[in-house]
Amino acid sequence: MKLQNKRALITGGDQGIGRGIAIRFAEEGADVVISYRSHQDNADETVKEIQALGRKAVAIQGDVSVTSALPKFFADAVAAIGPIDILVNNAGVEKRAEFLQATAEDYDLVLAVNLKGPFFLSQLFARELVSSKRGGKIINISSVHEELPFPNFASYCAAKGGLKMLCRDLAIELAPYGITVNNIAPGAIKTPINANLLDDPAKLNPLLEHIPLGRMGSPEDVAGCAAFLASSDADYVTGATLLVDGGLLFNYHEQ
Ligand code: NAP
Repeated sequence: MKLQNKRALITGGDQGIGRGIAIRFAEEGADVVISYRSHQDNADETVKEIQALGRKAVAIQGDVSVTSALPKFFADAVAAIGPIDILVNNAGVEKRAEFLQATAEDYDLVLAVNLKGPFFLSQLFARELVSSKRGGKIINISSVHEELPFPNFASYCAAKGGLKMLCRDLAIELAPYGITVNNIAPGAIKTPINANLLDDPAKLNPLLEHIPLGRMGSPEDVAGCAAFLASSDADYVTGATLLVDGGLLFNYHEQ
């Protein structure tokens, strides 16, 4: 098992990609704290599934966009399972709007959840690691949209693009402390965030035509890569973005 007796904190672990990562980490021997914002029922179900694997699991309600609440949130996670070795900044949200119509309210929300929360949660985690002289791993669930434009989702692209540079910067700043920082950039993954797309063949089929591997990804596809980055197999990997997109990002054809 790759993560035997490690302790992981995964934001937004009640459903979708975060849930897949939480379960995979537990299968690899880790204890986990997951956070959720609104879906306590999903969180409770995920916790039960992990406990059935024989690992500790705790769910904590928390909104990662509320920076002032993060110190207590992080302290509660440590109190629940002990010192954290792996932080997965997974919680994310997107808001669709043409750029000309985008509102400051939506911009603030998207940037706060996808970028500001990971920034300050990573800071709390890194401070704790440095003060206790332990190394650790930070994994951000970014997106192919840290590279690829996504018309009508400018705030999401701005946040994920920021997360790309945050990853690269922290990789350098935190390397002397034995802390690695990497991003995973999923392409199109079957999760509730894509509910509208999954229910609409007129939108789904053209997308599938652009994915060289010919299918949507699953949370498990992402989780396996997260387990690798969280493990000692990836000790010499930092500042990297691992694409988990079935070839979507670089699929360009001359006609
Ligand atoms: P999802 O199923 O909608 O899950 C999003 C998670 O984030 C939920 O657990 C949600 O909690 C949590 N969350 C949202 N706002 C929050 C907040 N303010 N504070 C704390 N938690 C919050 O989406 P997903 O597809 O698994 O997405 C996970 C990550 O992957 C996101 O960062 C997303 O941008 C990224 N991603 C997804 C895809 C894809 O195709 N699915 C592609 C590229 C990148 P509640 O359920 O309790 O509300």
